[in-house]
Amino acid sequence: MISKKPVIWEGAKIEHCKLSPHLLYPQTIINLTNKGGLSINKRIDLHTHSILSDGELLPSEIARRACVLGHRAVAITDHVDATNLDCVSKVIDAVMDIRDNWSIEIIPGAEITHVPAEIIPKLSQKAKKLGAEIIVIHGETLVEPVIEGTNWSAVNCSDVDVLAHPGLITIEEAEIARENEIALEISARKGHSLGNGHVVKVAKEVGADLVVDTDTHAPEDLINCRMASKIALGAGLPRKDLKTVLWETPLRILKNKDIL
Ligand SMILES: [Zn+2]
Ligand SMILES: [Zn+2]
Repeated sequence: MISKKPVIWEGAKIEHCKLSPHLLYPQTIINLTNKGGLSINKRIDLHTHSILSDGELLPSEIARRACVLGHRAVAITDHVDATNLDCVSKVIDAVMDIRDNWSIEIIPGAEITHVPAEIIPKLSQKAKKLGAEIIVIHGETLVEPVIEGTNWSAVNCSDVDVLAHPGLITIEEAEIARENEIALEISARKGHSLGNGHVVKVAKEVGADLVVDTDTHAPEDLINCRMASKIALGAGLPRKDLKTVLWETPLRILKNKDIL
């Protein structure tokens, strides 16, 4: 049974909303008050897939569903290699329409996936030139034969923002990620999440940034703040770090790019 006890951070006020019939869990809005008195109650997800790769949803539907689940921003990061980098430019028209009309920031991005580790810098640069504002690298997950060296190449590439599901990432790689301000991902996705405990342990040991992303492929994959908190805590993240991992780190990534 799921506990209804709210996650309480210092200075946080919790409100339980009415159950939406399509949600697995009661939606919890977490209001945090920062120094400026601004109320923060939103989620940021930097890793999702649309029909432009192997996802089930149009970018617009990802945005709409994320809006309903209380997201401030969501990045569309379809799988790319050299053959389909142009999918980045395809998503941009939809992104601009949504930015102008809805209260959610939708961000064009790319997840560089299963490529030779040596070409990660080249593809990252190309994706950025085509308009990708968030670069995710498909890391060395425990459940796919991602080529060894992918984590190393990703953390050494300054164009990368998030190393997704980095599996058994080494201390040295996590230290380089910290130096290059590349966030390591706590994954909500089945299979990829098997490495979450190790990722949190190593990141905490060296002080590397962490984010919680869904790697959404289907409608039910998007999550609210409450579920993201549980996944982070389940991976061993100390409760005191929830605010940083769930909100401050992804917000800083977007602010550094003048997106938010
Ligand atoms: Zn996929
Ligand atoms: Zn992905």
